Amino acid sequence: MKIGILGLGLIGGSLGFDLRSQGHHVLGVSRRESTCQKAVSLGSVDEASVEISLLAKAEVVFICTPIGLIVPQVNQLIAHLSATTVVTDVGSVKAPIVKAISPLWSNFVGGHPMAGTADSGIEAAQRHLFVDRPYVLTPINTTPSEAIAVVEEIVRSLGSKIYHCQPEQHDRAVSWISHLPVMISASLIAACMGETDPAVLQLAQNLASSGFRDTSRVGGGNPELGVMMAQFNQQALLGSLQQYRHNLDKLIHLIEQEDWAALETKLQSTQKARLEFVE
Ligand code: NAP
Repeated sequence: MKIGILGLGLIGGSLGFDLRSQGHHVLGVSRRESTCQKAVSLGSVDEASVEISLLAKAEVVFICTPIGLIVPQVNQLIAHLSATTVVTDVGSVKAPIVKAISPLWSNFVGGHPMAGTADSGIEAAQRHLFVDRPYVLTPINTTPSEAIAVVEEIVRSLGSKIYHCQPEQHDRAVSWISHLPVMISASLIAACMGETDPAVLQLAQNLASSGFRDTSRVGGGNPELGVMMAQFNQQALLGSLQQYRHNLDKLIHLIEQEDWAALETKLQSTQKARLEFVE
């Protein structure tokens, strides 16, 4: 199959590696010529160009650019496509994207691979990034079943676990487990930087180990992506942040009151609940 990828960064570049290894012919389009050359030399794509018209030959196109560019680029892209081409995206927010693209292109299936690293750009692309990871598809009632089947088959071949849901449900769910953690983790790092004694700050930086590495990882990721999560999933994220603040206030209160028994009960319940999210 001829598969197009628009946006050769971490996600687009990683998809390219795996799709090529399945025997697909991968056409890549990116903003910078240097990225196109790198993608070809690394083996992520067969052909690459800064011209979107390269994707005219594709049977399926994955849009892998930053969230804010997905809709404008689909607008540009569709002038070059034949009506049967299936378009899908990998954006971390679904409702505004699906709402804007569905009237423009009926063969559109919203998607979101739940995989990534703190790095970005073609250099960060890696093989097998999507293996055993959830991959959400958000078709709506007008999405043709043939288009869904085409995307599902490709996603399954990446080794991902497929989930279907409404775009709005997706945005609320990822607000809890992806967008809220980015903001909490960023404020953890910012709070630590608020230490006023430079010697203590330096000591903390020297002592930081696996616990801090785990809890600060997503707050130290791509700032552009974090801003777009907030911008495009504003309502769900604000709701999650308010609930988080409420929980933080409850913890502060228990510690101020020296209510160690209640604190322990709370931490016992979170210890148990965590297992429902991650093994
Ligand atoms: P990324 O590494 O920054 O890659 C995005 C790429 O898009 C850049 O390398 C850039 O390529 C290209 N690009 C930017 N403007 C463009 C334009 N006008 N035309 C064509 N290409 C352009 O970002 P990413 O992490 O792969 O994220 C891409 C998408 O995946 C986003 O929508 C994000 O929500 C989604 N996503 C990200 C993750 C994650 O953890 N990172 C996980 C799941 C989904 P050049 O080098 O050519 O400028």
